[in-house]
Amino acid sequence: MSVIAFFGLGHMGGPMARRLLRDGHAVIGFDPSATAREAFAAAGGRCAPGPEDAAADAQMVISMLPAAAHVEALYLGGAGEPGLLSLLDAETLVMDCSTTGPAAARRVALAAECLGLDWLDVPVSGGTAGAEAGTLTFMAGGTATALQRARPVLRAMGNNVFHAGEAGAGQTAKLCNNMLLGVLMAATAEALQLGVAHGLDPRVLSEIISRSSGRNWALETYNPWPGVMPGAPASREYRGGFASALMLKDLGLATEAALQSGSATPLGELARNLYALHNAGGRGEQDFSSILELLRGGPPGPASAATAATAAS
Ligand code: NAD
Repeated sequence: MSVIAFFGLGHMGGPMARRLLRDGHAVIGFDPSATAREAFAAAGGRCAPGPEDAAADAQMVISMLPAAAHVEALYLGGAGEPGLLSLLDAETLVMDCSTTGPAAARRVALAAECLGLDWLDVPVSGGTAGAEAGTLTFMAGGTATALQRARPVLRAMGNNVFHAGEAGAGQTAKLCNNMLLGVLMAATAEALQLGVAHGLDPRVLSEIISRSSGRNWALETYNPWPGVMPGAPASREYRGGFASALMLKDLGLATEAALQSGSATPLGELARNLYALHNAGGRGEQDFSSILELLRGGPPGPASAATAATAAS
């Protein structure tokens, strides 16, 4: 069993770190959010006061942070602060599970390589339910040797571990998946809204499509219509889950990748624009299935309601 420093104990990192505890590892967490730290402590986890303290005795470092800027700041440092990589023992294996895009992953990978550290970008799929259940899919970019070291720990958090290729390749696979997911969620919400507008019951329509050719993951395991699926974020006012702001970030990363390779991604770009409008409407913190509210002309989200109230006062 290993000593693992875990950075980022949010919607995904919290349950992932708890799975590692359950697997018998000594996990030392770090998160600037008191709420995230308290939730981890309530599950029996220990948190360190700072990043260096968390990593002091760690054989492995895992991070699950919002975006590339957080990951680069943690590992590479900046503004006179040393990055975490420069403080680690050369035997340490470093795995970033955040969705950052391939360019940022390659920058950190290069810095890690210069210091002789094993590094992997290992973004995940499976959502918060998959993180809780330990059934995530991991897509790794990096060397086969590093992945061999990482495998037992990844298997404690997920069912599937794929080697996508060299550093950054895990991120490329993740962008392709999430671009498709953004399109599927928007299209699923659109189809349900159309049916309901014509008098169909969203539960009956969901059941019909789930046995027909339009079936997909968003409809069947993450239904965007409130009340259709009791465990889905839509049935708890879109709280928790995968924030619309993070989906917009991922669709932006897919656009960047498309520009770099000259690929046409018209549906991904349309989904990115829909999520940009949705976020501008104040729903960035809500789960990404709340895109349904944009399509059915629901009221503005909490942030824009607050902005309107401030503007009016
Ligand atoms: P989140 O915002 O719930 O959690 C991120 C956590 O990182 C927060 O608690 C934040 O306080 C913490 N943090 C920020 N800077 C930090 C630092 N320097 N050190 C330690 N902690 C720091 O986000 P999430 O939903 O858990 O997503 C995390 C990553 O996983 C994102 O890149 C996201 O795109 C990806 N992802 C999310 C899901 C999902 O369903 N939520 C699924 C797959 C992938």
